[in-house]
Amino acid sequence: MRIDLHAHSNASDGTDSPAELVAAAVAAGLDVVALTDHDTVAGHAEAAEAVHALPAGSRLTLVPGAELSCVVEGISMHLLAYLFDPAEPAFAQERELVRTDRFRRGRAIVERCRDLGADVSWEQVQRIAGAGSVGRPHIASALVEAGVVATVSDAFSPEWLANGGRADVRKHETDPVEAVRLVRAAGGVPVFAHPGAVKRGRTVPDQVIADLAAAGLAALEVDHTDHDEAAREHLRTLAGDLGLLVTGSSDYHGARKTVRLGEHTTDPAVYEALVAQATGAKPIGG
Ligand code: AMP
Ligand code: FE
Ligand code: FE
Ligand code: ZN
Repeated sequence: MRIDLHAHSNASDGTDSPAELVAAAVAAGLDVVALTDHDTVAGHAEAAEAVHALPAGSRLTLVPGAELSCVVEGISMHLLAYLFDPAEPAFAQERELVRTDRFRRGRAIVERCRDLGADVSWEQVQRIAGAGSVGRPHIASALVEAGVVATVSDAFSPEWLANGGRADVRKHETDPVEAVRLVRAAGGVPVFAHPGAVKRGRTVPDQVIADLAAAGLAALEVDHTDHDEAAREHLRTLAGDLGLLVTGSSDYHGARKTVRLGEHTTDPAVYEALVAQATGAKPIGG
């Protein structure tokens, strides 16, 4: 069983359509893939349709999910949510709030980039983002198009879009304890995404992870491309101490990142345990 519980489509900042992501997951030999777009479930229907349309012989299970933008003590962090009821109003409203504020903030970031001499425009960013939940990776692609930086990753520097960088503007983000409660109340299963991704900026102290565990967090995403061996070791121990499960996932973004689908995977027993906790939705297909 090859299980990858973190992937993005062009419903947020990935480059594959949801149907293309499903095809890519089959091609990568995955048995299970989770669609976890930032602050949106807009890709779920197309992905589910693609799974149902798979030819006999290629079996794939789709786990519908999302990745909610959160902030605690001024530190941005991401909470994965699996198998929640997408129609549950409180969590749906919070996703909507974050998505809406992404537009105001995207415009402000583009203004900053222009003030700093980059020839990018909001129209260009909107063309790149399409219907996707707009974010810094789309603006990074615009900066690449404009010849300001060579790669999307290079745009996440202090000169441009990194957390606290010259062109960074904050968006509305949810308190993670509140977010864990919202996800659980919607029947979903919350997992802390890449908690030790130091290259993205400051990471939260262990005490915050303990608070989240007390609030109902299910697992830590430990095997992730942004974690070095020491970070994984530390998080694995912390998860053990706090009674949390441990996942591994690619955080695939199509052509916007170099990581491949299935580059990191989750243990089947852990996957089963996560699914058993969910009451809001069921895995699709398989
Ligand atoms: P936003 O949600 O608009 O704040 O943008 C955050 C997204 O930018 C993350 O989900 C990643 O996809 C991407 N990102 C953050 N930091 C980096 C980085 N250092 N290199 C490449 N992509 C990054
Ligand atoms: Fe992303
Ligand atoms: Fe993330
Ligand atoms: Zn992600």
